[in-house]
Amino acid sequence: MPIPPLYGHEGIQHRLVGAIASGRLPQALLLEGPPGVGKQRLALWLAQALVCDAARSTGEACGTCQQCRLVLSLSHPDVHWFVPLEPSKKGGDADKQVELVEEALGEEMAARRQQPLYEPPAGLANHGIAAVRLLLRRLVLTPALARRKVFLIGDAERLVPQTGAEAAANALLKALEEPPADTVFILTTAAPDSLLPTILSRVVRVRVARLADSVVTSFAQHELGLTGQRELAQRVALADGRIGRLLADGNGQARGTDAAERFLAAVQGGPAHRYGFALGLQPFQARGGFTEMLDGLLERLREQARSGGETDTVVEAIARVLEARGLAQGNVNPQLVAAVLADDLAEPA
Ligand SMILES: [Zn+2]
Repeated sequence: MPIPPLYGHEGIQHRLVGAIASGRLPQALLLEGPPGVGKQRLALWLAQALVCDAARSTGEACGTCQQCRLVLSLSHPDVHWFVPLEPSKKGGDADKQVELVEEALGEEMAARRQQPLYEPPAGLANHGIAAVRLLLRRLVLTPALARRKVFLIGDAERLVPQTGAEAAANALLKALEEPPADTVFILTTAAPDSLLPTILSRVVRVRVARLADSVVTSFAQHELGLTGQRELAQRVALADGRIGRLLADGNGQARGTDAAERFLAAVQGGPAHRYGFALGLQPFQARGGFTEMLDGLLERLREQARSGGETDTVVEAIARVLEARGLAQGNVNPQLVAAVLADDLAEPA
């Protein structure tokens, strides 16, 4: 299934194609803006314009040539889309880890071909060292079909510091600073301040704004088939200019946020509430609702950290939720993990 068309962002589209047409497009770009406004879709649109065989004199992609069609079906061999992945629990040497990342990325792309409307990445997903090594391997390849290669790194704030792998980290920085002549990097982020400063200083930043309600409405009607006027109006209002929020409605993230709210209320409510909440969880649903709830908690704590809450307390709380999330992925009963976590978070700082 081809990905849905790009909605809105005409102003940026205009600037970007203008830059392509005049040969002045920076080779390392950062698209930054609120979550769900379509930054990665915009990046794919730009990638398409960069590889199209029949680009118009305005710099816009034709939309029909083989290159365009491959990009739109997420199958172009020269458009390398990196998305955050859950850390692998399988062992193995560096080569093996790169293989595992390549496999996981392939599976993720296959899933997106089936269902191009995807959810935000899970709390722990990141661009780890193996992903960086995979990128570096692909960077030295000659383009297979197009004149150039495009590397798209979504949620780039999840590029983790590569401790113990400085050579790879430095190679990535060097590539961003002076990309090979046939290469363009497009990074996206909703949290530019969380990006590694060494990366931030090497990219040209482009602001991507919220969409007008009319654009979100149009997406909801044409891509999601929403017709009921009342539901449509409600969902569009909730989305607040972010198409991704439209999708999040009713999905795991929304459930996780709700469950996180209930959990925090139980934490505040004293021991009886805490244990009541913990015992109310399904004993072994660790990979479903429980991790969604922990992700909801992480998201909330990160927001607090960003808005400059009591930093030490928040950092400590994040560490404990991460620990709980690790346990939940093993064979530990979520009821137990939740009870311990609730006690930890209830402790006065
Ligand atoms: Zn084309």
